[in-house]
Amino acid sequence: MRVAAAPVMLCSRYVITLFKIPGWSRAPMMDKHDGIEAGDFASWLDNAIATLQGRSFSDVPCGDCRGCCRSAYFIHVRPTDKAALSVLPKAMLSPAPGWPAGHRLIGYDRHGACPMLKPAGCSIYAQRPRTCRDYDCRVFVAAGIEAEADKAEINRRIRAWRFTFANESDQRVLEAIRAAASFLRDKRHAFPGGRAPSAPSDIAVMAIKVYPVFLGPNLADKADTEIATEIIARSRVFDADCIA
Ligand code: SF4
Ligand code: SF4
Repeated sequence: MRVAAAPVMLCSRYVITLFKIPGWSRAPMMDKHDGIEAGDFASWLDNAIATLQGRSFSDVPCGDCRGCCRSAYFIHVRPTDKAALSVLPKAMLSPAPGWPAGHRLIGYDRHGACPMLKPAGCSIYAQRPRTCRDYDCRVFVAAGIEAEADKAEINRRIRAWRFTFANESDQRVLEAIRAAASFLRDKRHAFPGGRAPSAPSDIAVMAIKVYPVFLGPNLADKADTEIATEIIARSRVFDADCIA
């Protein structure tokens, strides 16, 4: 839900990044004992992938956190968000740069809060746009990174989440996602034209899409450009399974 010069199409409806803001960091190593239960990692990943492909929705145990509703995000409202469009005041909506006509953005107030956020929570919860339904800050945890430095409330929650793991295989998947995120961040030069995701949410989502590349054999023997080519191919395979 933030702004880049042009929106980054991530397959799915999980386009939370609308405008990029520079400055982000790797998530710190987490203490296993304190924190908030993020659920079983493998189950979470299954649903995260289904959500990215448009086959499910996020189910985040947010509790009293409202981080993503008051972190100065522009919220993407699609033409298909008919329930949201039926309740959102037209004056609150502006055209979404780089998107076809009919795609809109909800802005935020001077404190960074969505105008639909009231003291009791989202005032259009039942009709909220797909962007809000899909958002899940645990993607950052999976990728081992944080949101931009100015997203303090979200980053507090990212640091607090604790996944549980049923077995070592699930932990290897987490390590592969984190390796993918590191590669995307550190090896942009390996991609044609240096075109690779740069916003933290885009990197986290792409890492989830392409992590199987980092479970493959002989990775250490491959050139960065070869790995980048595999990432691009894997991303296309993932996108081909998306529901339009
Ligand atoms: S930042 Fe995470 S935990 Fe907080 S409201 Fe958003 S999705 Fe829920
Ligand atoms: S529409 Fe509701 S859920 Fe979405 S950002 Fe605004 S307050 Fe939060």
